[in-house]
Amino acid sequence: MPVVSLRDVSKVYPATTKTGDPVIAIDGVSLDVEAGDVYGIIGYSGAGKSTLVRLVNALERSTGGEILIDGQDIAGLPERRLREVRLGIGMIFQQFNLFNSRTVAGNIAYPLEVAGRPRAERAARVAELLDFVGLADKARAYPDQLSGGQKQRVGIARALATQPSILLADEATSALDPETTHEVLTLLKRVNREFGVTIIVITHEMDVIQTIATKVAVMDQGRVIERGDVFDVFSNP
Ligand code: ADP
Ligand code: ADP
Repeated sequence: MPVVSLRDVSKVYPATTKTGDPVIAIDGVSLDVEAGDVYGIIGYSGAGKSTLVRLVNALERSTGGEILIDGQDIAGLPERRLREVRLGIGMIFQQFNLFNSRTVAGNIAYPLEVAGRPRAERAARVAELLDFVGLADKARAYPDQLSGGQKQRVGIARALATQPSILLADEATSALDPETTHEVLTLLKRVNREFGVTIIVITHEMDVIQTIATKVAVMDQGRVIERGDVFDVFSNP
């Protein structure tokens, strides 16, 4: 059973004074992500990638089709149940989205506080994650004292805090230089291999897909225009 399955999903934003017409951001997308995949979604700006991520993470509701997470259609779920679904999905972002007023440890602990985990469990989990991302010596540092690569490692640790089975990476390396990008992608590979976390990587950069993904879907104007194994999609016979 796929861990994420989209069946003929659409998302239409209503007309605004700015757009004039409704915007079809996602136009009949079907996609299966299997457990353990590193699944790349690539496309130019405006292709619908971020909208897709927000639908999978249940931050927005689709206007058509079905989205199944671990076999469960999330479209009709009440908000309380959606919160449970979200706890099983970690997210990392282009601009890291760390809380600047909290320490590194405080950022990583945040999802555990939201989930109501006891203090001792939080401390143990934070220590484990600090080790995993190689930032044990930065526990008391604040985000503005860190490099971009370090910030994203904190982002990854925070995303993993509640032990999600799925990690969504939305342009997670787009703000980083090539060397740091490579470091972060290597860490994501370890997350996939050592913890079995299924990763969906959203990017406009082919290099990122070729470095980390096994499967890829190419999006354009809200549709998937090509998909398959990375090797097949990007080799031009
Ligand atoms: P990408 O992530 O590939 O750059 P997006 O998902 O951000 O693409 O955008 C897809 C389309 O949906 C674009 O035309 C964008 O302008 C439109 N769009 C995205 N979010 C909204 C919104 N909240 N309201 C109206 N239109 C939106
Ligand atoms: P903040 O001031 O940023 O909110 P806290 O000092 O409240 O940070 O710490 C947040 C969480 O991180 C707590 O659960 C705490 O147990 C844990 N924590 C703090 N320092 C460390 C550390 N050095 N190693 C592991 N966990 C830590």
